[in-house]
Amino acid sequence: MYILIFLNIIVYNIKNKGLDYMDNLHEALERQNIAYFSMEIGLRSDIATYAGGLGGLAGDAIRSAADLNIPFVAVTLVSNKGYFRQTLDPAGNQIEHKDEWNPAHFMTLCKEEVKVKIQDRDVKIRAWIYTYKSHIGGCVPIIFLDTNVEGNESEDRKITDFLYGGDQRYRLKQEIVLGIGGVRMLNALGFRVRKYHMNEGHSSLLALELLKQNSVDPKKVKELCIFTTHTPVEAGHDKFDYGLVKDLIKDKNNVEILRKFGGQNYFDTSIFAMNLSNYINGVTKRHSQISSALYPGYKINAITNGVHSYTWASPYFRKLYDRYLPDWENEPELLIRVGEIPDTEIWEAHWSAKRDLIDEVNKKTGVGMDYDTLTIGFARRMTSYKRPTLIFSDLEMLRSINKRGKIQLIFAGKAHPNDEAGKQIIRDIFKIIETLRDDIKIVFLENYNMDLAAKMVSGVDVWLNTPNCPYEASGTSGMKAAHNGVVNFSVLDGWWIEGWIEDVTGWSIGPKPDEKISIEEIRTAELRDLYYKLYYIIVPMYYEQKDEWLKLINNSIGMIASYFNSHRMMRYYVTQAYL
Ligand SMILES: *Cc1c(COP(=O)(O)O)cnc(C)c1O
Repeated sequence: MYILIFLNIIVYNIKNKGLDYMDNLHEALERQNIAYFSMEIGLRSDIATYAGGLGGLAGDAIRSAADLNIPFVAVTLVSNKGYFRQTLDPAGNQIEHKDEWNPAHFMTLCKEEVKVKIQDRDVKIRAWIYTYKSHIGGCVPIIFLDTNVEGNESEDRKITDFLYGGDQRYRLKQEIVLGIGGVRMLNALGFRVRKYHMNEGHSSLLALELLKQNSVDPKKVKELCIFTTHTPVEAGHDKFDYGLVKDLIKDKNNVEILRKFGGQNYFDTSIFAMNLSNYINGVTKRHSQISSALYPGYKINAITNGVHSYTWASPYFRKLYDRYLPDWENEPELLIRVGEIPDTEIWEAHWSAKRDLIDEVNKKTGVGMDYDTLTIGFARRMTSYKRPTLIFSDLEMLRSINKRGKIQLIFAGKAHPNDEAGKQIIRDIFKIIETLRDDIKIVFLENYNMDLAAKMVSGVDVWLNTPNCPYEASGTSGMKAAHNGVVNFSVLDGWWIEGWIEDVTGWSIGPKPDEKISIEEIRTAELRDLYYKLYYIIVPMYYEQKDEWLKLINNSIGMIASYFNSHRMMRYYVTQAYL
């Protein structure tokens, strides 16, 4: 008798466990979804499936889709050994550690399994489902594909271990799993899909699977596909040698299809995606122009990126916005009415976020930064085109600026494990920190991730951005800064071309993008702006014209955050691409 009750309880539990995620998904399975494919997704710091801006954007797209009740399902790889966790030795050498996380802590394993063919093997794929629930709207299921399945060969079990790890061969296997496996998994789970959105070319093999499902009719597939490109440089687009392609994809017909739509000489994932999408876009107006020049013959639209307002506003600003601009989180346009908020309270919110950051910096580094000093932040991927050391081009200039009014600098960022030049940049910054030790306090914080980003973009006074034009397709950290009244000081590239009004929303570095001048003249103008504006405008205003500074804070919120948010971005995707 007791045994029977006991057994019943077990059976009941198993049954419910099995049904649990399906119950949760009921709403999502009923609707016609947009399936959003992305190699990386930045949901939260402890789910290490992102490396930088692309993942952050995917996370913000999901958060806004959920808030706005857009029928959305996202697909990515589980990457459960992460991108990497960064530590730095005293010389600034980057040490890369596995950033392992356990999917079982956050998500439910589904019982469905699908297979993809790699070489002659059937590689089994399973899926973890995480349901992102908006507290003001709906939910978005996120499917994390996982090849660590019993029965797979050990080589195949590792395909979904590391984000952007390994070589070309590893990457192409990941793209087979993401694109082809992802479509199959959506089918197996019973999702109905009205459109497939490829966030960057990594997932473009989904179009191969769709061709097979639609009697190889490109017209039908194009109706279903949307492609967003994120890089303005030729070399940034994922390409594969056909030798490698043929080795991994044995089916001759499939390789023929890839050749037909993805390029004769090598398989270009972006070309393939563009040839099979009815809607293509770049991530800022400038980026879509550059992409159009790079790929003549394709209509490349522009939908300028945005960030998720609620996620990136500090707790202090959230409280203020809640009080003075109710409903702002689902209607960030309301931030345009920032004038409703008394300046004293705005300054207090900024001050609180700054205090938190400075406390953390001092706790971690013991460098003894103070709350009153003008604090400049620079955090992004450490890679050459971002030019993290541009501000150190002339140390004497920097010293004189520091004499005009004290400054302190906070840096952070990871270099890709294969990016030797990027790693050298970190070492260079460490050397400069030593050189300037007696004059200017500078720190480089380890392991830049979403949590640290949130603290930095809210806790500094000025957000510095010095990419080499036109390599910054968009950039998003400056939009996060603006949500916290942190003022942008940036090269006119990416989103800043659209957000910048000199002395009103922030300051520019270097010429306007359409000025026809030589590289040397551009470099001279950049350094002149960087140093002169710090010396003559930014430092004096910070210390001597608090009212003027508060205007810039207000304008950052009212004129930048009100527009450069992912709610606006997702509404544009709905009306321009999804409908
Ligand atoms: C926002 C964000 C980025 C993107 O910053 P950019 O300005 O686009 O370089 C990169 N990494 C993390 C962790 C972020 O939160």
